[in-house]
Amino acid sequence: MKRVEYPSGIRDLIAQLKRMPGIGPRSAERIALWLVQSCDARPREIAKTLLIAADTVRPCGNCGFFTVGDICEICADETRSVDSICVVELATDILPLERTSVFRGRYHALGGRISPLDHVGPEDLRIRALLDRVKSGRITEVILALGADVEGEATANYLAGLLREFPITISRIAQGLPAGGGLESADELTLSRALTGRTKMQS
Ligand SMILES: [Zn+2]
Repeated sequence: MKRVEYPSGIRDLIAQLKRMPGIGPRSAERIALWLVQSCDARPREIAKTLLIAADTVRPCGNCGFFTVGDICEICADETRSVDSICVVELATDILPLERTSVFRGRYHALGGRISPLDHVGPEDLRIRALLDRVKSGRITEVILALGADVEGEATANYLAGLLREFPITISRIAQGLPAGGGLESADELTLSRALTGRTKMQS
């Protein structure tokens, strides 16, 4: 006997939802059924919002944070200090640091970290853009806020080597971050302490 399945519309929806991070087959099925059954679902609104977000949100041309214009809210904020840059691996690392309210300078997201095993080399990251910013700006300090794992270490050391030629202080956020974890997984207090207790790599 032929096994009965949901109609193709629901099956396709489940297949699309399953591709999303953190959504397993059970959740995908639950969400798909809610979308087609519930009067609260407002599928047209969801579809419209999804398209608008996907079409308009892009990385800031300066720091790599999310924006709908050319420059993000942080880079456009003239009340923020322009003499220090906090370097992070990913754009998603910026908001956890922002929430600590310890740092009031600008950011620079590299777009990853050096990881030979994953075939990510320095040329794959926004390192040239960082050097250009340091060169052209009134930068006095670069804070390296990279993960506490091997790749984070290697990336920090590589950057410190390149930045040595500039008359700036290079510091590294204090350890105490979860070993092997990125900034995303750290709580606010740990991040705030790590920023306040940053140590000079060289000046
Ligand atoms: Zn920006």
